[in-house]
Amino acid sequence: MRLAESAAPGSPVSAARKMSSKPLHLIPDWRGDETLYSWSARMHRLLGGATKETGKRLFGASHAYKEWAVSTRLDYLELVTGGSLGNIRSILLQRTVLAAYYPFLRAEQRQDFDERAAIAQRTPWLTRFGMRASTLDGSEMRWCPCCAEKDVGDWGAARWRLPHQMPGAWWCVEHGMPLNRLTPGRAEWILPGVSESSAQLMLTVGQQQTLLILSALAGSLVGQEQINLVSIKRALLARLRDMGVVTSMKPVSPVDLQDWFVKTDLAAAVEQVQPSIQTILARPWIYETLLKRRSNHPLLWMMLWVAAFEGTSQQEVVRGFHEPDATLIWQEDGQGMLWVEGNFQGDDRVQAIVRSAETIRDAARQLNVSIITVRRYMRGAQCSPKLVRAEDRRQSRKEEALAEIESLIQVNPGVSRTDIHQKCKVAVSWLSKWEPELLASLLAQKPEVRERQLELEMSNYTQTGE
Ligand SMILES: [Zn+2]
Repeated sequence: MRLAESAAPGSPVSAARKMSSKPLHLIPDWRGDETLYSWSARMHRLLGGATKETGKRLFGASHAYKEWAVSTRLDYLELVTGGSLGNIRSILLQRTVLAAYYPFLRAEQRQDFDERAAIAQRTPWLTRFGMRASTLDGSEMRWCPCCAEKDVGDWGAARWRLPHQMPGAWWCVEHGMPLNRLTPGRAEWILPGVSESSAQLMLTVGQQQTLLILSALAGSLVGQEQINLVSIKRALLARLRDMGVVTSMKPVSPVDLQDWFVKTDLAAAVEQVQPSIQTILARPWIYETLLKRRSNHPLLWMMLWVAAFEGTSQQEVVRGFHEPDATLIWQEDGQGMLWVEGNFQGDDRVQAIVRSAETIRDAARQLNVSIITVRRYMRGAQCSPKLVRAEDRRQSRKEEALAEIESLIQVNPGVSRTDIHQKCKVAVSWLSKWEPELLASLLAQKPEVRERQLELEMSNYTQTGE
């Protein structure tokens, strides 16, 4: 609980009084990842009045309980809470399903969103920014009986968790079980109850796993600013190409894409868990999502991604969605796509792996690509593994040493081995360490000492011999 700050002149609270609203004195803190509706339903219990009365106190509207997904009247809430729940943008993106849509908006839409939030505009947020397609979004609130039980233990009451309200979140990631559902017709500031799971599903382990991953991916959208759809498309096409669903031999076929999808675990699982969206999935939705410029629903993007990466771990699927370019790198056989597309040199991760690898083979193994691909990358990105760099340095050092000695010989054809040793000390000592045979063959052409020197030595010898 926190106490609302006393009303200073010009503060939202004093403005609230002008709007004939009563500031709330006890304002509960958010409980974990609960939704705005969850907080409001708890507030309803604190206030102890009728359903409509709570709507008036919190949002200035008796029907406010019907806006279970997101309220249009956040300006009122901000006034009566003195802004202590955070700014309107953070409430929308951390406490409502808008979290699922915002990262898929175009840049100008996000700016529009931010501007409206900044001035606390009353706007139908979901209609304007939610890409509402009723069949895909459903109209229900979901909860996990195990989470609810834990909440009761921790806080004395269950919550509506935002990750469970996201499109495609049909599974509790923490407890690995289907979520219970409630239609909003009954959502009169209601809180989840602790009951057995109501869902009767006949799902294989693979189908359960794919629903869990889809739900984890949906939950991971909370707090995200932007999803890179261009890269997602590219990564998806690469993946579909790897699987042979798409080939470079013929144009992408909507029918082939549909045929592939219906065979996935996700398709079978969704048919059971959300039969209402079958009409949408019967359309050439994959083709539209991948090849049409029109923006598509977050749920379709996520379903396509999860289906395409079936067999990959939850962490990889989620991380890949947020870093789709990195996904390209980790794919086996995706090599053709991997290097020819875009600014691969800008990928710091690949660069770092290649540079820190000992050998080209080592880099190829880590990147899961062929040695030829790594060589091509090295040429393109001008970077190489450690031993290759060491080898390159050695090669250039060798050439320098050779050039130094050869130029000495060229200038003084009669130069002796001793002269070479003296005048090219560093080059000779480097060659004697790393390329002793080369040095030996180089020096073999030269006399031990110069002719003149030899003569002197000989004469010395004859003299002493006398
Ligand atoms: Zn749970």
